[in-house]
Amino acid sequence: MSYQHQFSDGTPFNHTLGKVVCVGRNYAEHAKELNNPIPTSPILFIKPATTVMPLSDEIKLPQGKGDTHYEAELAILIGEQLTCASTADIERAIAGYGLALDLTLRDLQSELKTKGHPWEIAKSFDGACPLSAFVKPATITDPSNIEFTLKINGELRQHGHTNEMITAVTPLIAFISQHFTLMPGDVVLTGTPAGVGLLPSGAKLEVDLESVLHTETTVK
Ligand code: ZN
Repeated sequence: MSYQHQFSDGTPFNHTLGKVVCVGRNYAEHAKELNNPIPTSPILFIKPATTVMPLSDEIKLPQGKGDTHYEAELAILIGEQLTCASTADIERAIAGYGLALDLTLRDLQSELKTKGHPWEIAKSFDGACPLSAFVKPATITDPSNIEFTLKINGELRQHGHTNEMITAVTPLIAFISQHFTLMPGDVVLTGTPAGVGLLPSGAKLEVDLESVLHTETTVK
């Protein structure tokens, strides 16, 4: 895999991606749309580095594995090692903000959930985490008060506002760091707002983070 982190201004980020730590059901409206209970503490899962590809590259849907759903999410680039981290440690360690698609084989995930099995194979296939370039932290004054959108073929499908997160960015990273050490180059996905659905082949996608980041891609 040749993925390398990029900043939107073209400057390099010299750490290699190790893992992507994700949270399920971090927006109440999304939990409800999939008939899931609202969790009392963050539900974590990990996408390996082999899931990550540049969001601007064409997305290739897995074949013969049922429906692939899109989930647009705010992505946090980690710049320092974090183990049982404090708020101050976390604020220093955020190296950038970007957007990701947490691609999900929804039929397969539903089947695994029904059986009470881990849903890893529904979330961790090659290419399951298209990831944008990152904006520098100084670009975002308050991560708990930012908006992002996903449009498919020009139609607004998801509109997230981080003030609607059940667990906000800093406490989420704190919780993660109590369970796994985050390393420089790791990425945290902060959950998807309502509006998830089938990713249609041939679609054109546009993702925007406020007015600071815009990425377009297509589905094969
Ligand atoms: Zn997700």
